[in-house]
Amino acid sequence: MNYLNKLTIKDIDVENKRVFLRCDFNVPFDGQGNITDTRRIDESLKSIRYLLERNAKVILCSHLGRPKSGYEDKLSLKPVAKYLSKVLNKDIKLLKDVSSEDTKQAIETLKSGELCMLENIRFEDGERSNEPEFAKKLASLADVCINDAFGACHRAHASTAGMAKYLPSGYGFLIEKEISTMYKILSNPKRPFVSILGGAKISDKIGVISSLLDKVDILIIGGGMSYTFANALGYSVGTSLCESDKLDLAKDIMAKAKEKGVKLFLPLDVKVAREYDPNSEAKVVDFDKIPEGWMGLDIGPKTAKLFSEAISGAGTVVWNGPMGVSEWENFSSGTLSVAKAIAESGSISIIGGGDSAAAVYKLGFADKMTHISTGGGASLRFLEGKPLPALEAIKDKN
Ligand code: ADP
Ligand code: MG
Repeated sequence: MNYLNKLTIKDIDVENKRVFLRCDFNVPFDGQGNITDTRRIDESLKSIRYLLERNAKVILCSHLGRPKSGYEDKLSLKPVAKYLSKVLNKDIKLLKDVSSEDTKQAIETLKSGELCMLENIRFEDGERSNEPEFAKKLASLADVCINDAFGACHRAHASTAGMAKYLPSGYGFLIEKEISTMYKILSNPKRPFVSILGGAKISDKIGVISSLLDKVDILIIGGGMSYTFANALGYSVGTSLCESDKLDLAKDIMAKAKEKGVKLFLPLDVKVAREYDPNSEAKVVDFDKIPEGWMGLDIGPKTAKLFSEAISGAGTVVWNGPMGVSEWENFSSGTLSVAKAIAESGSISIIGGGDSAAAVYKLGFADKMTHISTGGGASLRFLEGKPLPALEAIKDKN
């Protein structure tokens, strides 16, 4: 699996061509329809500008959220088109669908160096089901297809994987940066190689834990998933998140770590709350003594110190998943300590996962990290060494 050998935007003639550019504009919004983090859009600018400089006619495409079926005003790409139009200082016509005469007309009359944007592609029926007919229809809109939606590469949808076989296709600069950075760091990691895993569920991360066990020297586990390990060790976990069907898996991971000589760190203490509420009454208890009726929502101070010390000596760090409910101030200090320890360690660091990346930005450590992936699920798949269907669909360079 070497995606560095696939065709990229630089290998394909885009001059004066109609170029379908699949981006990942799946950005977060506040309650008033304002974009709260424009990073994914900003990271797409390099490919967009490259195409405009080469007089391409650019058709932008993205998904946003998970629409049920058809148009939903709150999942419209209108705010994205408006933001991009301002940044590029160019008009961007938002096309309401893929199939109408209006859309066909708008694309036919698009001039070199101009842009338009399709509405949220998940409003269309054939997108998620990757209908061949729909993929062909998308392909008929353009001469060339460039994928720069790293965050959607793990999904075989019509606009990511489906249409690539009907057009000359390659990936853009954002994807190139994502995969070349991660390949470079992971192929010959500076040691010790430390991985920190957290987040809600062990079941989301099992693949990546298993594959990292073959590569890392130290594995640190915190966040919601740590309580499944606690339970597997026979500790009481109160009302903490715990996947009781994954106890054997947790035991297996602990045994494998031992067998492979990987040092495994689990929490020593945790901050527990009465309820799953940002303002709940809370206290710190030992990891193996969570009282009945309390739930662990963050690591405790002893744990933060233990984890920070392990991180401080790291050569390479891969971090995925917050140490607690980091969205809530009262339960964010464990995640803050880890972010700070990585920032101060001088290690080469990869942050994968949407919530972890958001925490790093919010806590102000983004510029201290080597690479913060724009893809949650896709970066996990990549770290697992599993194929990404949208990249598989692109031809190799010869
Ligand atoms: P990422 O997006 O970085 O991969 P995840 O989506 O796996 O991370 O996990 C982040 C989510 O896990 C957050 O919504 C956070 O609130 C939740 N979480 C973390 N720790 C706990 C915990 N102890 N109890 C409940 N939820 C938790
Ligand atoms: Mg997440």
